[in-house]
Amino acid sequence: IKKIGVLTSGGDAPGMNAAIRGVVRAALSEGLEVYGVYDGYLGLYEDRIEKMDRRSVSDVINRGGTFLGSARFPQFKDEAVRQKAIENLNKHGIEALVVIGGDGSYMGAKCLTEMGYPCIGLPGTIDNDVPGTDYTIGYLTALNCVISAIDRLRDTSSSHNRISVIEVMGRYCGDLTMAAAIAGGAEYAIVPEKPYDETQLIEDVVKGIKNGKKHSIIVVTEHITDVHQLSKKIEARTGRETRATILGHVQRGGAPTAFDRVLASRMGVYAVDLLINGHGGRCVGVVSGELVHHDIIDAIENKRRVFDEELYLTAAKLF
Ligand code: ATP
Repeated sequence: IKKIGVLTSGGDAPGMNAAIRGVVRAALSEGLEVYGVYDGYLGLYEDRIEKMDRRSVSDVINRGGTFLGSARFPQFKDEAVRQKAIENLNKHGIEALVVIGGDGSYMGAKCLTEMGYPCIGLPGTIDNDVPGTDYTIGYLTALNCVISAIDRLRDTSSSHNRISVIEVMGRYCGDLTMAAAIAGGAEYAIVPEKPYDETQLIEDVVKGIKNGKKHSIIVVTEHITDVHQLSKKIEARTGRETRATILGHVQRGGAPTAFDRVLASRMGVYAVDLLINGHGGRCVGVVSGELVHHDIIDAIENKRRVFDEELYLTAAKLF
């Protein structure tokens, strides 16, 4: 193998730049040529592809987001669109592609692999919802951001005896919510992996107040309920001022933490190692601290992320 490409796709995540840098520098160290693709699969289709050198990735390790840009490009589900993307790669002589993104981006990489074009997937998303890895690049940075937001809301809620309902990202994965609830000392965590009973939640809040709780923090994963409506219902039932805060995109920004920089760098270097050793169609994960790789097709079709029951039970004892 002589030439490889790299792109970032889907929602951006802190540490994506460190992963690109890992791929670029490792490839150059191994004597490969490396190309950056701008704006994910969209740029691949539009042939916005540029050769990278060491300096292309200077001063990016500490930066959030992705300097290559990312895009949502649903047209990539169309085989003719992917065929054009492969033609563009072939035109540059690029023989394999490293895709940094979430599960949607993995689907794109899986489809290219099935069409005979080898891809390596690196898990880059704050949601931690990618199969085959304990941690995704960006997850722990986002977690720190959520915790600092909860800390701030706690200060003001406790001063005003107010109930706070906080909506956290994660798509359909409750990891960010669970960990933030524990680390932020929340009273309740509502996650997609567990049944949600609104009446029960409200009655629990009432019970908490009867037992002397001055304020409550309720952390909820996005897409479960309308947190503003929920707050109104809690306020009506308890008589306590209740406010909803949707943390939104602030969770995706900011400088990556040391953990994410190191993880992203390791994964970037590992992806290049895999390609040099003739592996294509793989996705990379970190399991119990060790880097691992799985068949990307098998990972998408058969592997499911396992919800951390231990964390859930731990939280239940702390609430
Ligand atoms: P995040 O979860 O952090 O938002 P993601 O990678 O899951 O990241 P998506 O928008 O789901 O984000 O996917 C990114 C891109 O991957 C899509 O815009 C599309 O170009 C491509 N993609 C998604 N699903 C498929 C699919 N089934 N086939 C081909 N390409 C796909």
